[in-house]
Amino acid sequence: MAGIVDQGRVTRMTSPAPHTSRPRRLADWWRRIVDRDPSPGGDRVERDDEPIDVTSPRRGPTSPMADGTPPPNTDPPVVPAERPGATNPPAGRDGNTPIWEVAAPTADGLDLPPLAETAHADLCVIGLGGSGLAAITAALDRGLSVVGVDAGAIAGRAAGRNGGFLLAGTALFHHDAVRRFGRDRALAWYRATMAEIDRLAAEDDQVRRVGSLRVAVDDTEFADIERQLAVMGDDGLPVEPWEGPEGRGLLVPTDAAMNPLTRCRRLATRALEGGARLYADSPARTVSGRRVTTTDGTVHCDQVVVAVDGALGSILPELAGRVRPLRLQMLGTAPTDEVALSRPVYARYGLDYWSQQPDGRIALGGGRDHGADEEEGARPEPSTTVQGHLDDLLRTGLGVTAPVTHRWAATVGFTATGLPVCEQVRQGVWAVGGYNGTGNVIGAMLARVALDLAHGGSSDLADELFET
Ligand SMILES: Cc1cc2nc3c(=O)[nH]c(=O)nc-3n(C[C@H](O)[C@H](O)[C@H](O)COP(=O)(O)OP(=O)(O)OC[C@H]3O[C@@H](n4cnc5c(N)ncnc54)[C@H](O)[C@@H]3O)c2cc1C
Repeated sequence: MAGIVDQGRVTRMTSPAPHTSRPRRLADWWRRIVDRDPSPGGDRVERDDEPIDVTSPRRGPTSPMADGTPPPNTDPPVVPAERPGATNPPAGRDGNTPIWEVAAPTADGLDLPPLAETAHADLCVIGLGGSGLAAITAALDRGLSVVGVDAGAIAGRAAGRNGGFLLAGTALFHHDAVRRFGRDRALAWYRATMAEIDRLAAEDDQVRRVGSLRVAVDDTEFADIERQLAVMGDDGLPVEPWEGPEGRGLLVPTDAAMNPLTRCRRLATRALEGGARLYADSPARTVSGRRVTTTDGTVHCDQVVVAVDGALGSILPELAGRVRPLRLQMLGTAPTDEVALSRPVYARYGLDYWSQQPDGRIALGGGRDHGADEEEGARPEPSTTVQGHLDDLLRTGLGVTAPVTHRWAATVGFTATGLPVCEQVRQGVWAVGGYNGTGNVIGAMLARVALDLAHGGSSDLADELFET
């Protein structure tokens, strides 16, 4: 028995369970959930011969339901054990703070002013998350002058509040992507995103090239994993069967993990050093290819990249029908040695996911299906229903007793096709987003593609990835 002191409390920690018991614990937890509420269970899972409805991409930290319609939430209300305001430690300063703040560089120097003047630039980027910042640094590399505006702070939304997984491929598992998009296109996406992970890892030394696991909660999911293994194997993609303390499934050795807030703050620092003019608290109000107005300022420019993912439809109403805003949630714990997870894990077709940080903290998310309709267009705040599911997974599924120190939520954009948007929507206005919950890799990649299209006029990658 060991003990740690966390936020003034001594927490009892049990010895790590024997490796063989943890997968069984996860399977038991899942069986209990299915018994309680059959709708999110194995019977919901698509069979291989069924058409894919990509309003419900099946992988990635945020995969929604298999039939595209969220099931009715028949869960008995589950009250998070350590919700803000309860007797337990608060879940972040304001009850909505990502665990990434613990290890990220401070935001000193990134305390940006609002835009309160008329500015001129070659390029205006709207949205200072991972995607917008990637577009900005690429534009600087091209020698362009850039103004970037954000409605809030640098990485104040999903880019600084996600799971930190860097996964290759689209939001669909590769075998599903092959069925939906055809082998050539699915492979093009897979290879391009693998190359993007290489690039992210080369650019940022905190990216951990540890691979990722997909584990099964039941036999049905395991059969699907076997199909994924077979198709990826046939296509020569890096993948191996996995059986270990996390469960049984597959390992993608080339995937990676990172602190997403660290990445964005580093990118923003680089952008400022490179001469970009960045403004916070400056929501874009009107957007045309040559002029962006914010609450108190105006940017005159030659091209605009709008990189706001889940907010695309609110800035560009022509995309409102294609990109749906959905809320996703996570929690984080104090450092623990109750588990020893060396790489990110996703389970239940990506509906649940977790990883352990270098300091032993666990970041765990998912359960969007338990929130069902509540999550669509919702305020980006933790909710009792989904947080209750996450607590249950943490305590019962993983057997972790460490205190929950953080809870958080953010909004992402989902598309019906399963592919993101990357196109000119108005003369000189390029939109990127709708990453279906897996935008860390794809967002950075497509923001650069948008820049190539906007300022270079063409992109070979765009031709490979999108039907033209
Ligand atoms: C809980 C959770 C877990 C996730 N896990 C993962 C994961 O592990 N791996 C992964 O790849 N993806 C994950 N995602 C998805 C990923 O976070 C997003 O796809 C990605 O962050 C999108 O980045 P972005 O820069 O395009 O958009 P955002 O991060 O949403 O940034 C857009 C920015 O635009 C700004 N903005 C909005 N409206 C305006 C306006 N009118 N004017 C100016 N600025 C505006 C916002 O303030 C925001 O800063 C997760 C998301 C969540 C919420």
